[in-house]
Amino acid sequence: MLSDIEQLLELQATDKEIRRLQEEIAALPKRVAAIEEKLAGTKAQLEKARAAAKADEANRKKFEAAIQDLQTKISKYRDQSLEVKTNEQYKALLHEIQFAEQDVRINEDHILEVMINAETREKEVKAAEAELKAETAEIEKEKEEARRVTAEDQTKLAEWKVKRDGLRQNISADLLRHYERVIKLRNTGLAEVRDHKCMGCQVMLRPQTNSEQVVFCDSCQRVLYFDPANEPKPEPVAEPVHHKRRPRPKADAPQAWFYRPDYGDEEALLVFTNGGDTSTRRVYEMHTGRQIGEILTREGSYRQAFPEDLTDTAIRLNGYWDEKEIETWGLEMPTNTLDALHADLRAAQREHGAAPKEEPATPAEHSPAP
Ligand SMILES: [Zn+2]
Repeated sequence: MLSDIEQLLELQATDKEIRRLQEEIAALPKRVAAIEEKLAGTKAQLEKARAAAKADEANRKKFEAAIQDLQTKISKYRDQSLEVKTNEQYKALLHEIQFAEQDVRINEDHILEVMINAETREKEVKAAEAELKAETAEIEKEKEEARRVTAEDQTKLAEWKVKRDGLRQNISADLLRHYERVIKLRNTGLAEVRDHKCMGCQVMLRPQTNSEQVVFCDSCQRVLYFDPANEPKPEPVAEPVHHKRRPRPKADAPQAWFYRPDYGDEEALLVFTNGGDTSTRRVYEMHTGRQIGEILTREGSYRQAFPEDLTDTAIRLNGYWDEKEIETWGLEMPTNTLDALHADLRAAQREHGAAPKEEPATPAEHSPAP
């Protein structure tokens, strides 16, 4: 992994933490404000209940004053009634007294109503007062908590910012600008590559030739990186090409190479050459390329002449070297020849492995080729 990428990854983690802290710091006053709003609602309710109680009280006094007035009037009428001369005058006064007494009763009813109401009002005021007290205590606690968390966050934030500034100094300005632009747009500035896919936008990537350079995703522009923990061991570049394009050896070729895992006690490479009425066989040790035994010559093509070598376990390989060239090898084949045969054998074994005749997929050790 490049050092630039490591720095960027750390920067991204730092930026994320800074963002989280900033969001938390911003959220705390909002929470306090929400509780304060609720508190204001409770206060208003209490004021309303108190005002209603006050209005009731004022009304009661008004009704009591009215009764007082009426009773003064009634006693005045009674005094007058003693001094009237005519029956009409007396009846008129009596009528006034009855009228006033009726008014007194009406006012008394009003007072009773107010007194009944007053009980409810009292309860309302008491409830609102209790609620206000509880909410006030709660908001004090919340505010205290918010102050504490905010102070902690501020300290952490300052530390993270110092860390971020340090990281930014180690990253090239161009790369930093690119990262800033992408993170602003997409929340993350880097994306891991897995199976040739950008994990940020899930788009398949073109194969990269130069792994020394920082690479961006063509699609989302994120800076790409590989996490070795998630990467399968990279195979040599040439092998997958071999794997797909492995040519099929020709059945009627004048020279045929075979691999046998069970040549006697060892693994061996065998080469057969058809020449006119006869064919020859050479055998080489698989890993060293040293010739085993003598060159055998028999009548007929190799298929007829050496049937005991063409076993079920023998694998036909690609490869052709001129007979004269093979003679120059002497007792050991050249390393590049051996390497080429090994590579083709691996490709052939992979082909065999992919064939359905292998055992049903068990993730256990690689089973020997069938
Ligand atoms: Zn992408």
